[in-house]
Amino acid sequence: MINKTSSDLFKRAKEVMPGGVNSPVRAFRAVGSDPLFIKKANGSKIYDADGHEYIDYICSWGPMILGHNHPIILDAVAKAIQNGLSYGAPTENEVLIGELIRKMVPNVEMIRMVNSGTEAVMSAIRVARGFTGRNKIIKFEGCYHGHSDSMLVKAGSGLLTEGTPDSLGVPKNATQDTLTAEYNNIESVRKFFENNKDEIAAVIVEPVAANMGVVPPKKEFLEGLRAICTENKTILIFDEVITGFRLARGGAQEYFGIEADLVTYGKIIGGGMPVGAYGGRREIMEYVSPLGGVYQAGTLSGNPVAMAAGLAQLTMLYENPEIYEKINKTTEKLAEGFRTIAAKYNAPISVNVAGSLMCPFFTDKKVENYNDAKTSDTEAYAKYFNSIEERGIYIAPSQFEAMFMSYAHSDEDIDKTLQAAEESIKKIWGGK
Ligand SMILES: *Cc1c(COP(=O)(O)O)cnc(C)c1O
Repeated sequence: MINKTSSDLFKRAKEVMPGGVNSPVRAFRAVGSDPLFIKKANGSKIYDADGHEYIDYICSWGPMILGHNHPIILDAVAKAIQNGLSYGAPTENEVLIGELIRKMVPNVEMIRMVNSGTEAVMSAIRVARGFTGRNKIIKFEGCYHGHSDSMLVKAGSGLLTEGTPDSLGVPKNATQDTLTAEYNNIESVRKFFENNKDEIAAVIVEPVAANMGVVPPKKEFLEGLRAICTENKTILIFDEVITGFRLARGGAQEYFGIEADLVTYGKIIGGGMPVGAYGGRREIMEYVSPLGGVYQAGTLSGNPVAMAAGLAQLTMLYENPEIYEKINKTTEKLAEGFRTIAAKYNAPISVNVAGSLMCPFFTDKKVENYNDAKTSDTEAYAKYFNSIEERGIYIAPSQFEAMFMSYAHSDEDIDKTLQAAEESIKKIWGGK
């Protein structure tokens, strides 16, 4: 496949943007190839600048749960732009989206709109610290919560390591209160509570980890977090930037039947526009300014065009719960197909699924945490990626990302994807 336009654009892009991109994963460095520059998208398909068509399993990293260009969202945006792009003043749609979210997620009694998932998490952590008067935060190895200073920590090699920054430019004292535990390991959390009594403001977790590939929680893990947090008067934050409005209308809280104290949103909530939000119990959210002493603000927060897109997407999901049944079934079909192909070619592939999130890990190990995920053969993944891209399937250019299913993906898309997957897997493992 010749990607001349993408190649030319990438050369120019590298002159004016670090790595040629505005977000690192887009540079395709993990798979040793050049990014596709995208011209347009529609339904389940995405088109690059050279005119090639792909079935899209990135879906803008989650937001496009209804598929690209859903007419209901396009109409809402088209109407909104007639009335001006931004006012810096409250609007009716902000009230409507707040009321709708409370119907979908009843324990989100109050919400504050921001402009990204990063901002949502950063603000929720400030609220948790303000509310509890404590500083320490527990996060989990392999969970991503955006790029604010205190969240840029991954653990070292040990099971229980104290925070050292992951990025240059993050002062050590910005992460010294971040403790990193092991996903799906409640004992690793209990140890931190024992050693930091009455000091832990919040535990933040992706209720399904979807930034180290896809790693579903064990039942006793989320239940254990809820119990420990309640017992220690610590705020449990579910980072639902991916799982929110995806696993169910009420997100992971509904899907697993567990209530968090604060929840962060992003991605789906904006219908493709840059939106994030955080919310939760009234007594906690009343700490946010101007009601309370936790300061947080945003010039473009609750932007009218973004709110129109988000409100249209959430309304569609709220009124049509069968959407979830369909996308989950489509995902299960894709996962089953993968398992069959892997077995046929004796390929070491371990498939994880949670609702409409899926990840084929290129390892024969069952993946339950970051260390398991890291046993994946990333060179094999790179070969697989390049082969399946050639065959018109657009997946994440990294082993450690999810495949995102949308309502627009058809059975025919799945069949075509599985055929391309089989040809690619056969090329890599067929000779063994
Ligand atoms: C994407 C993501 C974020 C960050 O959201 P941005 O909008 O990229 O800032 C935070 N948490 C989780 C779980 C995410 O997947």
